[in-house]
Amino acid sequence: MIVVLRPEAREDEIESIMGRIERSGLKGVLTRGSERTIIGVVGVDPVLPDLRDDVEIMPGVEEVIPITKPYKLCSREFQSERTVIQVGRVKIGGDGVVVIAGPCAVETEEQILDTARAVKRWGGHILRGGAFKPSTSPYHFRGLGREGLKMLSEAGKEVGLPVITEVLTPKDVELVVEYTDILQIGARNMQNFILLDEAGRTRKPVMLKRGMSAKVEEWLLAAEYILSQGNRQVILCERGIRTFESATRNTLDISAIPLVHKLTHLPVIADPSHGTGKWYLVTPLTLAAVAAGADGVMIEVHPSPDTALKDGAQSLTFDHFADLMRRLAPVAEASGRPIFST
Ligand code: PEP
Ligand code: MN
Repeated sequence: MIVVLRPEAREDEIESIMGRIERSGLKGVLTRGSERTIIGVVGVDPVLPDLRDDVEIMPGVEEVIPITKPYKLCSREFQSERTVIQVGRVKIGGDGVVVIAGPCAVETEEQILDTARAVKRWGGHILRGGAFKPSTSPYHFRGLGREGLKMLSEAGKEVGLPVITEVLTPKDVELVVEYTDILQIGARNMQNFILLDEAGRTRKPVMLKRGMSAKVEEWLLAAEYILSQGNRQVILCERGIRTFESATRNTLDISAIPLVHKLTHLPVIADPSHGTGKWYLVTPLTLAAVAAGADGVMIEVHPSPDTALKDGAQSLTFDHFADLMRRLAPVAEASGRPIFST
């Protein structure tokens, strides 16, 4: 439930309300918004009838509203204005469409630096590159680990772009936090609750990819894990789901974009590379995702997709990336939100 406070509520009144909530074994999360100050009540059963009745008549309380959704902190009921996440000079979820691009995996210093330069040159905002790669087969490339993190971070610094990379296990969170501006939690780990808790204890933005068989509600509950640990900077990423269709790697669920915007205040970006698995479908699906209101896109780009160690078939060449950026500009503009510029 949400406790909406009166504009004139005093600090000691707020403290008493928090105390009453905590005595029920629940947690109060105070948010001072531009229009109103509220306390979100989270816990196992956040609408205990006694608690609701007691709080409703406490001094400083305007009204008590039950949240009907199973996720609380990430719901629109809890926060009506959209969350904007600032990474360096880039704003995700604000007035501009953000483009994240880079190779699936960091392979060599030269590969990541060349890609970083191309991403920057054609107007990308954030550099991606995996150093810890989840892999369906144990015989495939699994990333360069710490060395890869260093190469990614140095390439980002060299061209002046923030970076994002995946963290695979709770024990690596501390290491990855040192090198990255945004933590990525991959589709396969969307319901790794220990990892979600750990990422929630950091103060870095987290991009949470939708699990390949996850319902929207499960995805938002996974985001709730991160938020409930105190980290409010969560970006959702629609990356395609498993369907009966095998002509594409996954089915990019475009409808999830406006749906998630309706249900939550968190930004949502689309990943048409993993969403389709085919490089020639990446640009059309990028345009569709942005037209549907995506706050950004994540695109795999490689200097030479033919020789890429991972996901070459869905990676764009630099020329194709330049072409995507040119075609994206008018679509973004027409959708009411131009490509982000500082
Ligand atoms: C990736 O972004 O490289 C990746 C592994 O994505 P996903 O978790 O969506 O499969
Ligand atoms: Mn990939």
